[in-house]
This record gives sequence, structure tokens and C-alpha cells, in this order.
Amino acid sequence: MTQTLHIVGGGMAGSEAAWAAAKAGLTVVIHEMRPKVATFAHQTGKLAEMVCSNSFRSDDSEQNAVGLLHWEMRAAGSLTMEAADTHRLPAGGALAVDREPFSQYVTDKLRALPNVTVVEEEITALPGDGHWIFATGPLTSEALGAAIIAETGTERLAFYDAIAPIVYADSIDMDVAWMQSRYDKGETEEERKAYLNCPMTRDQYEAFIDALMGSDKAPFHEGEEAKYFDGCLPIEVMAERGRETLRHGPMKPVGLTNAHKPDEKAYAVVQLRRDNALGTLYNIVGFQTKMKYGSQTEVFRMIPGLENASFARLGGIHRNTFMNSPTLLDGEMRLKSKPHIRFAGQVTGVEGYVESAAMGLLAGRLAIAELSGKSLPPVPATTAMGALVSHITGGAEAKTFQPMNVNFGLFPPVDGLKGGRRGRKDRYKAYTDRAKADWQGWLGAA
Ligand SMILES: Cc1cc2nc3c(=O)[nH]c(=O)nc-3n(C[C@H](O)[C@H](O)[C@H](O)COP(=O)(O)OP(=O)(O)OC[C@H]3O[C@@H](n4cnc5c(N)ncnc54)[C@H](O)[C@@H]3O)c2cc1C
Repeated sequence: MTQTLHIVGGGMAGSEAAWAAAKAGLTVVIHEMRPKVATFAHQTGKLAEMVCSNSFRSDDSEQNAVGLLHWEMRAAGSLTMEAADTHRLPAGGALAVDREPFSQYVTDKLRALPNVTVVEEEITALPGDGHWIFATGPLTSEALGAAIIAETGTERLAFYDAIAPIVYADSIDMDVAWMQSRYDKGETEEERKAYLNCPMTRDQYEAFIDALMGSDKAPFHEGEEAKYFDGCLPIEVMAERGRETLRHGPMKPVGLTNAHKPDEKAYAVVQLRRDNALGTLYNIVGFQTKMKYGSQTEVFRMIPGLENASFARLGGIHRNTFMNSPTLLDGEMRLKSKPHIRFAGQVTGVEGYVESAAMGLLAGRLAIAELSGKSLPPVPATTAMGALVSHITGGAEAKTFQPMNVNFGLFPPVDGLKGGRRGRKDRYKAYTDRAKADWQGWLGAA
């Protein structure tokens, strides 16, 4: 193949996409703005720099979704996984790496390929022709951000995330919670029952506010100034503005009748809304937070109905440029309005080193197929790779889209298995067995 693939951003996703494409014989040009243009988080001019922790999280491919993603990436010849395995540090069941030699390894491997060129330059516009993958990450440069907005509209690119915790539906106690939209609004029965409600008595509310105010908060990273927008204040900040603020905001009890105790008026109600088409995940509405993870699980399990909640994702607020991928990208990660451009990595609304690299790998493979005139079968949604890409390109609720880690809530359920915490081990094993077989099948066909 003599075609050229341009990749903008030599981070986790861009490096992985470049490796896949170059190994398949494409001519690859990586356009990376560092070290000429810096970000507040990157320290070097190397490719695939890890900007914060040195962990790729769990390496357990049987019981953990990110461990499964590692497995799928290794099976697909991932450079990220090769570098991580080469520079692995002892970390129990987690995959931690020695960051400097890790990114040096990726840099050396890519620069050693005769068909890869690295150009140190900032790309500030979306090109009109050629074949491109944009993988510019959470700190996409300002000029390029402006170009993306000009193409997609102001509402479709965010510069901060405001992540509310997400709970596995089957871990919610439905003997306490009930389904109802405020004032039973909606045309259909489904819309009238779109929210899941958790009621609180006055004592429970007061104890919850005390716990919120006393919780440990995560600091912002250097360079991430605390820019709260009125629509997405952290709940603990709202609580600090007055003990009743939440009861008049996201926890207001009006327009709702407790289906289990119709005569009892709740003092406050926490609402959860469906977060994916599968209906396996619910996000706690308006509960974006900067509480530390340990505090979040403790505080949120005080909510009646969530005492045994399992969290698919905890809340957070970070500097994070990401697009509204469910509306902007097609199933092959192409920008619908400019299909010669793919997006990959964190800018597409996945979250984390591994997920970003995985989406780079996939974008690379999809570009290779397109440039060689092959059509690939869709990536099975039963695989970690497929579950993630299906989520960002359509499965997620576009209106409330926020970055997502890989988790089992994104997978289509396996029939006939016990739900809840008790069935979890067997369920996860069934998910990962199915994923491995389906991923190998897809790789064979690709
Ligand atoms: C402060 C901070 C802390 C984080 N901590 C963690 C953590 O602990 N664990 C974790 O898993 N994830 C963390 N993340 C998220 C992490 O950045 C991503 O998971 C991962 O690096 C994303 O990979 P990527 O390839 O999409 O983006 P990146 O790895 O950031 O790569 C994008 C590349 O594009 C380049 N670029 C940007 N704009 C342009 C342009 N216009 N032209 C050319 N090049 C450009 C950048 O210089 C960069 O090299 C953190 C993010 C931030 C901002």
C-alpha cells in the first residue's frame, strides 16, 4: 500500500493508530505539536507520554473490563501493551509501568519504522482532503479546538467534563426506589417512567449533607483552574452554599409519589437517569463531584436504595476536551460531515490511557481497511473494544454525554445469569469468555 495516513497527536491513541497503520504498510505521518507547543500536563516531547499516574489499572482479563481490553489489545498486536509489558513494575494485579522507558520504547519503535515520519507541528485546521486520524486528546490545542467548533458547533465540543457517578442498574434496591418522571411528564409510558427515584427523610438528608461537607475532595491538577459553570457545580459546592440548596436543586422532592409508600412525602429525592440504550447503567442526575473516590462510595451509599450500589464510574470534574461523538461520529469513528477524518482517543469521549490507546488501535485498523478497499464486519459489541466504540458512537445518551471508562455495564447482558453482586463473578467470566471468542473471530475476519 502506498497511501498516506496522517495522524494528528502522538499520544496514546495516535501512537497506537500509527503502529497499526505502519505495520500494515501504509505511509504514516504523525503530526505532534510537542515539544514546540507545550500543554500544562505533558513534560517531554516523547510519544505516548503518561501525563499523570503510571497505571494501566487491572490486568485481570477474566473479571475486569479494562483487563479484558488489555487482552484484546495484546491479541491485536498493540504497541502500548508491548511497551507496558516490557517496562512493567510490580503492582499486584494492576499493570503499572515505568513511565519514562515506556514512552521512550514507543517513540523508538515508531521512529525506527521507515514508513513513519514524525513532524513536530501544531495542526490548526481540519483538512479538506487526504486520510486523517485526529487523536489530540484532552488537551487539544486551542486553535484546533476552535476549528472543530467551527465545523461541529459550540455545543458539540466541551472543555471540561462534569461527570456524575454511574451505577449498575442491577445493584439498585427497587424495594426502595421507584420509576417515575417528575409530574409523570411524557408521551409514552417509558417516558413517564424515565427516572429512578430514591427518597430521603429529613434525618437522612441532614446526615447526607453533613457527610458531603465533611468528605475529602480531590484537588485540581496544576493548570486546571477551578472553572465551574453554573449548570455543573459540584454537589459539595452546592451544599456549601446552603444546607437547603440541594433540596431546591437536583434533590427537590416535587412532582413525585413514592410507589412503595404513597402516603409518605419524601423530604428530598435523588434521581437517576438511564445512561445507555441497554438500560444497564444509571447516572445520578446533577451529582458531578470533586469528592475523592473513597468518599464518593461512602457518601453515595447513604442514599436509600443505593446502599449496595456498584459503581461503573465515579464522578469527577477535569480539564478535558471531548466531542459529542454520539452525534458527530459514524460507527467507524469518521466525522459525519467530513468522512475522510476519523477521531480517536480521549477527544472522542473515552476516558483513560488504555481506552484511548484502544480507540487508536481501532481507528488505525478501520483506516487500513478503508484505504485497502476492504469492508470490515462491525466490531462485536460483546467485546470490550466493541462495547466502547458502540457506546461513544451511538449507545450513549447524546444529550448528557460524558467521558466513559470501559466497564461491564456497556456490554449486552448474557442471558440466564444471576444479576446483582452475588452473581457477579460468574457473570463477568461469561462476559470475558464471550468477548475473547468474539474478538478473535473479528480479528480473523479483519
Ligand atoms: C491532567 C491530566 C491528568 C490525567 N491523568 C490520567 C491518569 O492518571 N490516568 C489515565 O488513565 N488518564 C489520565 N488522563 C487522561 C489521559 O490524558 C488520557 O487518558 C490519555 O493520555 C489520552 O490519550 P490521547 O491519545 O487521546 O491523548 P494524549 O495522550 O494527550 O495525546 C494527544 C497528543 O496530541 C497532541 N496535540 C494536541 N493538539 C494538537 C494539535 N493541534 N496538533 C498536533 N498535536 C496536538 C498533544 O501534544 C498530545 O501529545 C489525564 C489527563 C489530564 C489532562
